[in-house]
Formats: sequence, structure tokens, C-alpha cells
Amino acid sequence: MSTLYIVPTPIGNLKDITLRSLDVLKRVEYIACEDTRRTRILLEHYDIKGKKLLSYYHPKEKEKMKGIIKLLKEGKEVALVSDAGTPLISDPGYILVKECIKEGIKVEALPGPTALITALTASGLPTDRFIFMGFPPKKKTKKFWESIKGCKDFTVILYESPERINKTLEVIKDYFNDPDTVIARELTKINEEFIRGKASILLKELEGTKLKGELVVLFRLC
Ligand code: SAM
Repeated sequence: MSTLYIVPTPIGNLKDITLRSLDVLKRVEYIACEDTRRTRILLEHYDIKGKKLLSYYHPKEKEKMKGIIKLLKEGKEVALVSDAGTPLISDPGYILVKECIKEGIKVEALPGPTALITALTASGLPTDRFIFMGFPPKKKTKKFWESIKGCKDFTVILYESPERINKTLEVIKDYFNDPDTVIARELTKINEEFIRGKASILLKELEGTKLKGELVVLFRLC
């Protein structure tokens, strides 16, 4: 039996990778990744050569998992990465980790970048209690927003796309009584930006403009 390593990768700035993550990526024979082209670019950047890349992506996770489990049972070391940030966080990996645990395979998670924590720590919103809700769904939205309503005195963290940000801000304003809200955009990249204010103010600021890039939305429920 071998070890599955969960290896976080940069969310923008390529310097954001730990020495230990690089050590593991250099050592393992196999790297399971979402998009082999993106992972190849990352490996080239760090001059890591000779790796066998296994594609492991949504919605083929279950199917692709079998080959990875087989390798681990044969004693091969495998690292799991995603396109950016920490695997399993709004990214594939959960069913693989669950299966490893069931099969008695060791799972070692390395600490590293994830957009939700990077956004939270610079948001200016309280960090004492927070809840991460991933991407708001496109269907059954009422149930989703309703489930957040009980999270009084929590900072709520969401991932959102530029296409849906205005709609989500409208819901935050109307459903949660116009709370203090932050949009963290393009974290760790050249155009990194934090837009802070009541949800209604952010909506006014965004009027007529189209936000670009990757976004995290945070608001505090009082
Ligand atoms: N596993 C990743 C992590 O640990 O953050 C998240 C992957 S999820 C598929 C991608 C979403 O994460 C983006 O749509 C955006 O909401 C958020 N995200 C990722 N990188 C970001 C960045 N540099 N700035 C702002 N948000 C980011």
C-alpha cells in the first residue's frame, strides 16, 4: 500500500507553492490531475520532468478513480492536484479520498493555497466563524439560500462567476437585509482587487460594467 498526496497548487501567482509540495511532485511517479495540459505547464515551470499524468476530472471521477486505487495498491505513490488551489475544494477528489480510506490507503494532505481562505483573511469581515458554500446552484436556489439563513454571526463565503455575480448580489441584498459584502477578484494575480461595501452599494458600483476573472463573494450575516 502506498500514499495518496493531496497537493495544492497556485491560484494565480506561480510562486505560491510550498517547498514540500514541490518535493512531493518531484518524488511521486504519478500525478492525477484535472487537465493534463494545465498541469504540464505547472510542472514545466518548476522544471519537474518525467511524470506520468493521470486524468481525473468531473464527471468521470468514479470511473477514473479505479485506476488510481489500483496503482496505490501496487505501492505506487500518487499526488492529486487540481487546476488551481486545493484539490477537493469545489474540485474533484472527495470520492477518491473516501475510497482510499475505505481501502486502508494512507492519505496525506499538504497545506497550501485556496481562494476561500485567501479571500477571507483580507476581506475585512470577521474571521471568527465562517461557512463555505461553494458555487450557488443554478437550480433549487431557494433551498440553498434558505439553508444559509440560519448562519447568524457567520461570514458566508461563496465562489461565483462573472456572469452570475449581479444576480447573486441581488439575492444577498434582498434575502439577507443588505449585509456587508466583499468581492475578492483575481486573487494573487496582477489585477487583484477587493470591492467592499453593502451589497446594494456593490450592485451600484458594478452597474454598466462587466466584472472579469475569478471571484470569491463574502458577506457577514448579523
Ligand atoms: N480548488 C480551488 C480552491 O482551492 O480555491 C477552487 C476551484 S473552483 C473550480 C474555481 C473557483 O474558485 C473560481 O471560479 C473562483 O470562484 C475561485 N477562485 C479560484 N482562484 C481564484 C482567484 N485567483 N481569485 C478569486 N477567486 C478564485
